[in-house]
Amino acid sequence: MNNLRLIAMDMDGTLTQHKSPLDSECRSVLEKLREKYKLLMVCAGGCDRVYNQLEHFDIDISGFYGMQFGKVQDGVLTIRESVIEKTDKDKVTACAEQIRNEFGLHDYVGDAVEFHDSGLITFPILGTKAKLDDKLAYDPDRAKRRAYYDRVCEIFADYNVFIGGTSSFDIAPKPYNKLYALKKYLDENNIASDEVLFFGDDYGVGGNDNCVFESDIEFVKIDNYRDFPKYATELL
Ligand SMILES: [Mg+2]
Repeated sequence: MNNLRLIAMDMDGTLTQHKSPLDSECRSVLEKLREKYKLLMVCAGGCDRVYNQLEHFDIDISGFYGMQFGKVQDGVLTIRESVIEKTDKDKVTACAEQIRNEFGLHDYVGDAVEFHDSGLITFPILGTKAKLDDKLAYDPDRAKRRAYYDRVCEIFADYNVFIGGTSSFDIAPKPYNKLYALKKYLDENNIASDEVLFFGDDYGVGGNDNCVFESDIEFVKIDNYRDFPKYATELL
């Protein structure tokens, strides 16, 4: 791409291991990229978490699937937009119950649904208090959740649903998803769709990068976060 202006990236699984800091190689590539292009993190978590995980690296951040936008400058994070969506908890609880009934998912510990302040929802199949070992063993290849995925989307029709974490579905009110977040950023910064490159690892069906992968945005598939510096270096 010779008209490249913006590099947009997922974080976990793309730049780093899940919830881990950047390694030094990745950080130094980002520093070089930053001299040439605008950089945007497009994340499922909040700007705060991304800011801390990136150890205060100067970069633009879209958090919570575009419900939040922040900017890190001189190591200081400023949140410039933060939307909070009201959730109809009774309705969401009923939807989750319907899914548990249809698929016989009655074995869970703690709460059946987790509500976040932003309006995002987690539907933890094993419950909010499940043991980590049980969660890791539940669905490592995502096959179980892929089997329920279409029906979960159908029941949560007002939401965008993603296969997230180890054993849950992440549920965001429409229109929020990573494509929405990215397009909003492009609009606000007068950048065209063909001037962007997106790096993501979760591009399969149900993955939270899938909407970008299936869009008109040029997408680089990352299957191992250690490959990122190699691909990124080609852009320097
Ligand atoms: Mg990821």
